Amino acid sequence: MIPMVDLKRQYHALKSEIDAAVADVLESAQYILGPNVGKLEEEIAAYHGLSYAVSVANGTDALLLALRACDIKEGDEVITTPFTFIATAEVVALLNAVPVFVDICPDTFNLDCSQIKAKITAKTKAIIPVHLFGHPADMDPIMDIARENNLKVIEDCAQAFGAKYKGRKVGSIGDVGCFSFFPSKNLAGYGDGGMIITKEEKIAERIRMLRNHGSSKRYYHHLVGYNSRLDEIQAAIVRVKLKRIDEYNEARRRNAAAYCSAINKKEIILPSTALGCEHVYHQFTIRTKYRDRLSATLGQNNISSAIYYPVPLHLQEAFLSRYNLKDSLPQAEACADEVLSLPMFPELGEEEIKIIAGVINNAF
Ligand SMILES: *Cc1c(COP(=O)(O)O)cnc(C)c1O
Repeated sequence: MIPMVDLKRQYHALKSEIDAAVADVLESAQYILGPNVGKLEEEIAAYHGLSYAVSVANGTDALLLALRACDIKEGDEVITTPFTFIATAEVVALLNAVPVFVDICPDTFNLDCSQIKAKITAKTKAIIPVHLFGHPADMDPIMDIARENNLKVIEDCAQAFGAKYKGRKVGSIGDVGCFSFFPSKNLAGYGDGGMIITKEEKIAERIRMLRNHGSSKRYYHHLVGYNSRLDEIQAAIVRVKLKRIDEYNEARRRNAAAYCSAINKKEIILPSTALGCEHVYHQFTIRTKYRDRLSATLGQNNISSAIYYPVPLHLQEAFLSRYNLKDSLPQAEACADEVLSLPMFPELGEEEIKIIAGVINNAF
């Protein structure tokens, strides 16, 4: 079976370095907020050319704490995309704020910026663009709209570590950038983890307190916070992979190019990259009206495929039961019916891509 992601291949390639890094943490006996957490924060801030990075327990908490640091409260409206993982909008609901969904551009699967203005009200406080599948959202118009309307911009970069928009790394453009180190993400640990980056000292300080029970001095609590610290062992593992992230993203782009030159059926819409963007292909996602049939054929040929995402967020039961979500969002709905993600990871071989493309071409 060719899997969607083969985490074992990367582990085996890095085994001696990762095992040594983990053993060092175990020997150090500094298991919570130890030196690796601090160093990873410094390295990730430097990678993005920003002053502040604060690690947290996972990508969902990164978004949640970012919203709290931006003062999003009950009743506030937050504009985002319906075509993403639930966490993007779940955090809005957790704060008793209201997610407002704007339809997507079918070419990039990201927010259609031309539709944002119509959804802004007096209650709108923030926009959460998602760089879905590793393709940057169109940040220039988003930042213009945000400035005109005094909105915060929280970038959901969970799938896009290292992706670039007009030469700038995603996460460094809005007020806050949020990352996840869930094992399948393009920069990942071997467990849960997350990171927030920002140029604003006040936001960084607030998140640093929130992640540790609202405290900066032990047993003195300024805010009601969370236990949301990044684990020292995960930090040590992510540091090993961070050194190689540009190389891994380059390998993903190479694999994507190989897929695009090998798949040659008019029934398949291949992913495209908008001008000025550098995609990191967290997923390689095609579109076809024959999605379910193609997915079955791939399975019969021992090739995995996956649907990200089958139900857009404005149609999820969890949100329908809380919010009045009557607008139909036709592009997101059509994508949910037609997208199919193919195996994609840096170590995927040229031969494997040829086999997968061959099965797809033969299916039509
Ligand atoms: C994975 C993901 C998250 C959540 O990250 P976790 O670390 O799993 O909590 C948020 N948004 C998007 C777009 C994601 O893909």
